[in-house]
Amino acid sequence: MAELPAAWSGEAPWVALGGDGMRAAVVFRGAEGCLWCFGETVRHLGSPPDGALGVAVGTLGALVFQRLRLGLGPALGGRWLVAPGAVEEMEMRRCSRCAGREPPAEP
Ligand SMILES: [Zn+2]
Repeated sequence: MAELPAAWSGEAPWVALGGDGMRAAVVFRGAEGCLWCFGETVRHLGSPPDGALGVAVGTLGALVFQRLRLGLGPALGGRWLVAPGAVEEMEMRRCSRCAGREPPAEP
Protein backbone atom coordinates (compact mmCIF):
# COMPACT_ATOMS: atom_id res chain seq x y z
CA MET A 1 0.00 0.00 0.00
CA ALA A 2 2.64 2.48 0.98
CA GLU A 3 5.08 2.22 -1.90
CA LEU A 4 4.38 4.85 -4.50
CA PRO A 5 4.70 5.49 -7.29
CA ALA A 6 6.85 2.42 -7.94
CA ALA A 7 4.04 0.02 -7.11
CA TRP A 8 1.71 1.96 -9.38
CA SER A 9 2.62 1.90 -12.98
CA GLY A 10 1.11 0.85 -16.25
CA GLU A 11 -2.30 1.44 -17.65
CA ALA A 12 -5.15 2.93 -15.71
CA PRO A 13 -7.47 2.17 -14.10
CA TRP A 14 -5.77 1.80 -10.77
CA VAL A 15 -7.67 0.76 -7.68
CA ALA A 16 -6.10 0.69 -4.24
CA LEU A 17 -7.60 -0.84 -1.12
CA GLY A 18 -6.80 0.35 2.35
CA GLY A 19 -8.24 1.34 5.66
CA ASP A 20 -7.89 3.64 8.64
CA GLY A 21 -8.35 1.11 11.40
CA MET A 22 -12.14 1.45 11.52
CA ARG A 23 -13.18 1.83 7.93
CA ALA A 24 -12.11 0.21 4.70
CA ALA A 25 -11.12 2.38 1.77
CA VAL A 26 -11.16 2.21 -2.00
CA VAL A 27 -9.19 4.79 -3.97
CA PHE A 28 -9.38 4.77 -7.73
CA ARG A 29 -7.89 6.51 -10.69
CA GLY A 30 -8.96 6.37 -14.31
CA ALA A 31 -6.86 7.42 -17.27
CA GLU A 32 -7.68 11.12 -16.72
CA GLY A 33 -7.04 11.19 -13.01
CA CYS A 34 -3.93 12.76 -11.48
CA LEU A 35 -1.61 9.98 -10.38
CA TRP A 36 0.04 12.18 -7.74
CA CYS A 37 -3.26 12.98 -6.05
CA PHE A 38 -4.02 9.26 -6.15
CA GLY A 39 -0.64 8.49 -4.64
CA GLU A 40 -0.94 11.17 -1.99
CA THR A 41 -4.31 9.79 -0.88
CA VAL A 42 -3.19 6.16 -0.91
CA ARG A 43 -0.03 7.00 1.01
CA HIS A 44 -2.10 8.05 4.02
CA LEU A 45 -4.07 4.83 4.21
CA GLY A 46 -3.33 1.82 6.33
CA SER A 47 -4.07 -1.80 5.60
CA PRO A 48 -7.56 -2.95 4.72
CA PRO A 49 -9.43 -4.45 7.66
CA ASP A 50 -9.90 -8.17 8.13
CA GLY A 51 -13.19 -9.96 8.24
CA ALA A 52 -16.43 -9.05 6.54
CA LEU A 53 -15.42 -5.47 5.89
CA GLY A 54 -12.20 -6.58 4.21
CA VAL A 55 -14.14 -8.92 1.96
CA ALA A 56 -16.71 -6.23 1.19
CA VAL A 57 -14.05 -3.68 0.24
CA GLY A 58 -12.47 -6.21 -2.10
CA THR A 59 -15.81 -6.62 -3.83
CA LEU A 60 -16.32 -2.86 -4.01
CA GLY A 61 -12.83 -2.39 -5.42
CA ALA A 62 -13.49 -4.95 -8.15
CA LEU A 63 -16.76 -3.22 -9.01
CA VAL A 64 -15.09 0.18 -9.20
CA PHE A 65 -12.36 -1.28 -11.40
CA GLN A 66 -14.93 -2.72 -13.80
CA ARG A 67 -16.75 0.60 -14.04
CA LEU A 68 -13.53 2.49 -14.76
CA ARG A 69 -12.61 0.04 -17.49
CA LEU A 70 -15.95 0.74 -19.10
CA GLY A 71 -15.29 4.46 -18.85
CA LEU A 72 -17.92 5.01 -16.17
CA GLY A 73 -17.53 7.04 -13.03
CA PRO A 74 -15.21 9.89 -12.11
CA ALA A 75 -11.55 9.80 -13.13
CA LEU A 76 -10.36 10.10 -9.57
CA GLY A 77 -11.97 9.48 -6.24
CA GLY A 78 -12.29 7.38 -3.17
CA ARG A 79 -14.88 5.73 -0.99
CA TRP A 80 -14.96 4.76 2.64
CA LEU A 81 -16.72 1.55 3.48
CA VAL A 82 -18.07 2.00 7.00
CA ALA A 83 -19.88 -1.32 7.02
CA PRO A 84 -20.68 -3.80 4.27
CA GLY A 85 -23.06 -1.89 2.00
CA ALA A 86 -22.53 1.47 3.75
CA VAL A 87 -20.38 3.64 1.51
CA GLU A 88 -19.27 7.21 2.10
CA GLU A 89 -17.49 9.62 -0.21
CA MET A 90 -13.80 10.06 0.59
CA GLU A 91 -12.18 13.45 0.43
CA MET A 92 -9.15 13.07 -1.82
CA ARG A 93 -5.82 14.59 -0.91
CA ARG A 94 -4.35 16.88 -3.50
CA CYS A 95 -0.83 16.85 -4.73
CA SER A 96 1.04 20.15 -4.68
CA ARG A 97 0.53 20.66 -8.40
CA CYS A 98 -3.25 20.29 -8.30
CA ALA A 99 -3.55 22.19 -5.02
CA GLY A 100 -1.97 25.22 -6.63
CA ARG A 101 -3.90 24.98 -9.85
CA GLU A 102 -7.49 24.42 -8.84
CA PRO A 103 -9.69 25.97 -6.20
CA PRO A 104 -10.91 23.60 -3.49
CA ALA A 105 -13.94 21.61 -4.54
CA GLU A 106 -17.27 23.03 -3.48
CA PRO A 107 -19.15 20.80 -1.06
ZN1 LIG B 1 -2.74 16.09 -8.55
